[in-house]
Amino acid sequence: MSNYLNSETIGLHGGSFRKDDVQTSVAVPIHQTSSFQFNSTDHAANLFGLKEFGNIYTRIMNPTTNVLEERIAALEGGVASLCVSSGQAASAFVIQNLCNSGDNIIASTDLYGGTINLFNNTLKSMGIEVRYADPANPDNFKKLCDEKTRLFYAETLPNPSLRVFPIGEVADIGKSLGIPLIVDNTACPIICKPIEHGAAIVMHSLTKYIGGHGTSIGGIIVDSGNFDWSKNKSRHPNIWEPDKSYHGAVWGDSVPQLTGANIPFIIRARVVLLRDLGSALSPFNSFQIIQGLETLSLRIKQHCKNALKIKEFLETSDKIEKVIFSTNQDSFFKENADKYLKEGKGALIGIELKGGLEAGKSFIDNLKLFYHVANIGDARSLAIHPASTTHSQLKEEEMLNAGVTPGYVRLSIGIEHEDDIIEDIKQSLEKIN
Ligand code: PLP
Repeated sequence: MSNYLNSETIGLHGGSFRKDDVQTSVAVPIHQTSSFQFNSTDHAANLFGLKEFGNIYTRIMNPTTNVLEERIAALEGGVASLCVSSGQAASAFVIQNLCNSGDNIIASTDLYGGTINLFNNTLKSMGIEVRYADPANPDNFKKLCDEKTRLFYAETLPNPSLRVFPIGEVADIGKSLGIPLIVDNTACPIICKPIEHGAAIVMHSLTKYIGGHGTSIGGIIVDSGNFDWSKNKSRHPNIWEPDKSYHGAVWGDSVPQLTGANIPFIIRARVVLLRDLGSALSPFNSFQIIQGLETLSLRIKQHCKNALKIKEFLETSDKIEKVIFSTNQDSFFKENADKYLKEGKGALIGIELKGGLEAGKSFIDNLKLFYHVANIGDARSLAIHPASTTHSQLKEEEMLNAGVTPGYVRLSIGIEHEDDIIEDIKQSLEKIN
C-alpha cells in the first residue's frame, strides 16, 4: 500500500494498485465481471466465512472499484472505504448501518434537499427519527441526544446556506458520548479533510467534483478507523450484538481480529448492507470516476480560484442584493470557513437578485455558457433557480426556512476561463428588467 501524503499524488498513486499484475497495464483495468472463480472449495468456504478476504461477486466487491476505494480512503485520511451506486445510497447506508426502528439521529439543519427527503420520509417510514440541530450552536447537538441517538450527520459546505459546519466542535461532543459524526464532504474534496478534525465517517457523492465530468453517478463511504465504538457499547447494537445473518458474528470483536483494523462500521456496511440491499457501483462507473480522481486536485484548485474571482465580480453588481459564499458569513461561520476549508473556499456561490422570482428566472434563461441543471461539481459552470425548480413544491415559509428566497440562484463555478464566466453572468444580469 502506498503511503503518499499529498492529495495530488494520492489521486494518481494512492492505494495498492501499481499496474495490472497479468498484463502490466498502467491504467486501471475495468473488471466488468459479475463473479470470480474460486481456487477450490476450501478457498470458497473461507471467503464466504470471512476467514480470508478476496473477490466473490461484484455486488459485494470488485477489483476496479477496490482501486477507487483505496485511493479515496487515502485521500480522506481514512483506513477503508466502500463504494455504492450513488451519493444518495451512501447517505442511506451510513444511517442504516447503525440505526434500527425506534432509534434516532441528530442532523444539521443545513443539508442537501435529497438528504432531507430521505430523512423526513423514507427513514421516518422505517421508524428512524431525525432530529435537526442548528449548527450555529454546536451544543444543540448535545441537547437533542438521548440513549437512542446513534449518530450525528452533517455536510461540510451545505447549500443554499454555504455555512461551513463546525466539524471539530460537534465531533468532540459526539466522542464524549460515544456518538460518531458522519460528514458528507461532497462539496469539498481535498479542500477539507473532515477526519483530521474528528469526523468518524466521511461520505461523498462521487457524481460531483470527484468524477468531475458529469458522466457517472456514484457514492462512497470512508471509515476513519479511529472511532471508539466501545466507549458506549449499548449505543451501537449493530456493532456489538451478535448478527443473526452472519452466524452470530459480533462485528466490534471479529473485524479487528480478522483485519487488524478498527473498521467494524465499513465491513458491516459491505458484508451486510451491500449484500442485502445491492446498491453496488458498476465497475465501468468506478473506472470513469478514477479518471476524474486523477485530475481532481488540479480541477478543485481551479474551481475555487475561479469562484473567488466570480464572487468579487458579483459583489459589484447593482442587480444583486446579496452574495452568499463560504467566507461571506457572520463571524462563527466565517471562522469555520477559515478553519476547515484549507486549499480553497469552495466553488458554490448563491446570489439573491433584487428583482425576486422573475429576475431569477430571467437570469437563468439568458445564461449562455452556464448549463441550467440540477447538479453541482461538474467541470462546466452550472446554475439553477431553486424557487422555480428544486424547491418549487415547498410552501413559501418552508422555502425560506431552507434558505431559498424567490430571487436566489445557485452557481456551481466550473473550470472555464474566469473572464468567459464573468462575461456570461454580466450579459445575463444586463437583461434583467
Ligand atoms: N450529497 C450532496 C451534498 C449532494 O449534493 C448530492 C446530490 O446532489 C448527494 C449527496 C446525492 O448524490 P447522488 O446524486 O450521487 O445520489
